[in-house]
Parts: sequence; structure tokens; C-alpha cells
Amino acid sequence: MGRINYGEYEHIVFFTGAGMSAESGVPTYRGRDGIWNQYRWEEYACQNAFDADPEKVLKFHELRRGTVLTCTPYPVHETIAALEKKGQVITVVTQNIDGMHQRAGSMQVIELHGSLWRVRCPRHGISEDMNSTYSRYRCDKCGEWLRPDIIWFGDSLNQRVTAEAAVIRRCDLFVSIGTSGVVYPAARFPRIARENNARCIEINPEANEMSFLYDETIREKAGTALPELFGEE
Ligand SMILES: [Zn+2]
Repeated sequence: MGRINYGEYEHIVFFTGAGMSAESGVPTYRGRDGIWNQYRWEEYACQNAFDADPEKVLKFHELRRGTVLTCTPYPVHETIAALEKKGQVITVVTQNIDGMHQRAGSMQVIELHGSLWRVRCPRHGISEDMNSTYSRYRCDKCGEWLRPDIIWFGDSLNQRVTAEAAVIRRCDLFVSIGTSGVVYPAARFPRIARENNARCIEINPEANEMSFLYDETIREKAGTALPELFGEE
């Protein structure tokens, strides 16, 4: 596939997943080498675990945060952020919680599964906390434990965030990167984009059961493919 003349598109959505984290060196959660093969999610990533031992869960997430901070955004994050800087209307919809899109400079990022860089008080809501160690474990105002603002096992997706993802209905180019997209609501995204007659491109080294929904598929690593499609001449 040749270079994409992105100026022809009014609104581009990049839908990104674990493949991008993996390519930029961030350990991923699922799969053979995933974090959940080393740690039992039941002890670290569900509301029950947090209720039983909040400090243990917070310390686990500090480990994750420290690891992510040793990684840097790579050419895919950078290519997407650069398009937005040039004035293209870009929305990133991501399954990743590592905040790498924002670190590369992307402004419009919808995080389906929350963020490693936010905490949430049950009474006082969400706040950012960007260092490897949390600045505090308990809310300043009420003393409640601050819970990572992440969709854990057993949590339902945040309704406001899924509503924001409806922006896919208005895009005319939909590019999926490094996600199998088989989990709800991701499985619906290419279908929604197609309802608007968006051009749909999948970049993923491996085919999956949703691949048939795309007009074009690129079986390469995104780090190679995306800069060729969207980068500078
Ligand atoms: Zn509070």
C-alpha cells in the first residue's frame, strides 16, 4: 500500500492496542509473556484485591508505572502525534493504559481501559498522579484509599468513555493498530466506522477474526508500516 494522502480525510481515528505497547517495550498484560502470567490478577487487578489490601495493589501499580517510565514513545506514537500537530483532526481510541500517546504529544486520547497515571477517590473523583510512586495513597480531603483509575477484571467500562468513543461514527479513516479487537466494545468499532463509509485499515502482524471487516490489512509491525503510510516524504 502506498503513502496515504491524509489531507483528504476530515477526521482520522487511530484505534490502538497492546501490540503498540509491546513494540515500544512496555510489558503487556495478556498472552504468553504477559504480566498476568507472572502475577495473579486476582491479587492485583480487581476490586476485591483492592478492598482486601489496597497498599499491596498500589505498590504493584507503582512497579508498573516505574517500568513504563523507563520506556519512551516510539515512531508510531510520534507519527500520530505529529499528524495532529499539523492540524489534522485526529482521535486516538486506545486500549492501553500506559499514557504513551499523551507522552508523544497526542491531545485527543480516549482511554477505554483507564490510565496508570490517574487515581480515583470514591467521593472526590479522579486526579492525575504522574510519578513512578504515587504522591499519596489516600485522598487529601477524606482519607479514603485512592484506587488506580483502571478498568480491572470484573469492572464494567466507564459509560462516559464509551460514549466518547462514538466519535468513530464521524471518522472517514479508521486505522486499527496492534489490537485483535475481538473484545467488546472494540469488536464493534470497524463496523461503526464502515457505517459512515470510512476507509478501514488494519495494521497487525497477525490476522484475527475481525480482520475481514477491514478494507485493507497490513501484516507488518506498526513501527515499520505507520511511518511509511503517514510520515514525512
Ligand atoms: Zn476523597
